[in-house]
Amino acid sequence: MGFHMQILIALLLGIKRNWHIFLGLILGVICGIVFPQTQYPLAHKIFTFIGQAFINIIQMVVIPLVISAIVIGISSVGDNKQLAKFGKKMILFYTIITVAAVSIGALLAVFMRPGEGAKEFINPAIAQELQGLVSTMIADQHSHLAQILLNLIPRNPFYALSLGDMIPIIIFVLVFAIALSKIGEINRPVVSFFESVFAATMKVTDWIMYLAAPGIFALVASSISSFGVEMFQGIWKYLLVVAIGLLIQFVVIYPLMLKIFSKVSVSKLYGAITEAVMVAFGTASSSATLPLTITCCEKRGISSKICSFVLPLGATLNMDGTALVQTIAVIFLTQAYGIELSALVIVQIAFLAIVASSTCAGIPGAGLITIALVLNGIGLTPEQMVVGFSFLFALDRFTDMLRTTANVTSDAVVAAIIADNANEINYELFNNPELQKDII
Ligand code: ASP
Repeated sequence: MGFHMQILIALLLGIKRNWHIFLGLILGVICGIVFPQTQYPLAHKIFTFIGQAFINIIQMVVIPLVISAIVIGISSVGDNKQLAKFGKKMILFYTIITVAAVSIGALLAVFMRPGEGAKEFINPAIAQELQGLVSTMIADQHSHLAQILLNLIPRNPFYALSLGDMIPIIIFVLVFAIALSKIGEINRPVVSFFESVFAATMKVTDWIMYLAAPGIFALVASSISSFGVEMFQGIWKYLLVVAIGLLIQFVVIYPLMLKIFSKVSVSKLYGAITEAVMVAFGTASSSATLPLTITCCEKRGISSKICSFVLPLGATLNMDGTALVQTIAVIFLTQAYGIELSALVIVQIAFLAIVASSTCAGIPGAGLITIALVLNGIGLTPEQMVVGFSFLFALDRFTDMLRTTANVTSDAVVAAIIADNANEINYELFNNPELQKDII
């Protein structure tokens, strides 16, 4: 059987196992088209309310989950050398995947030229409306790279916790967990405490998953109903380039990575994480999907030791889908304005997209905000950004849903490779979906 056929079948099996989430997704698309926000504002409000409630409920467990997962992940690795090895591999694989993503994005955007002729679709009225919002955003981003990097170091971890700022939280927890692993037996009470917190948050995640179908339904219906079909007419070429780019990640880059660096079967992995990918699409948030990504990987054979270390870091730092979309978006805008880019500037855009995507939080719309960093980096003026941004704003939710599926899948790909290399996959379980426990 052809390799792409195997992937398709694995996905279909994954969907069959949790057909109700898929049904929610499809019904969401249908209701979103049947009840456009302009004609049915009340229906849109109801969808948005239910969807937001679902996101809030999942996000409720994310911070305790990330903290407890990293603490037990690092303390279960114990040995410093092994930890350093996992850490290095993780950074290496996340970097390869993201570099591949921006290269694909840049090549597609340069050759398919989605921005040509797009200027006439950029709606000056919407631009006017968004002017205030965008100016504040740009002002925020003006605290350029050095400041952004400085902000990642938590001066007060409790303040970062209260803001839900994931990167500073993770940096603090990493240092704290490494210290815990260095102090010997005395660490037991704290590690046991976090083991209980982790087990309890996973239990809550199981309960939350009963709400997945209505939650995904409402989220998808809410975003589709706010688009309006006419909007797609002006932007189809941009969306096509984004979709092709992400598809290449799924059917070429991830399978290649798995093949070169491990013996993990890509179709088995995709089958194992189908629920997480559907939730990523619905929520457009890697952080909100994290509890489910961990559940899927652990229940299907990847050891908790690897999952609890690699997945929380990936959900925050590894955003290959976002980097790909940011690269295409910026080149698209320059094409729309008729600005010719030299090869050097394109490389610069790709590099900035890697930085911008990894500083962006795993929440909906974060990638759109950090695009300002890329634009600033290549010296585009705020006026150009305002009009262009309005265009990207209008369609961001849709591309966000797509790019988040890649962000989440690549986290699982890297976790699977590292687990394979460290003999931390139970292949009997992983390769036999009939033995695997259901998520819901
Ligand atoms: N929504 C994305 C995520 O959570 C981030 C982004 O690209 O906006 O992974």
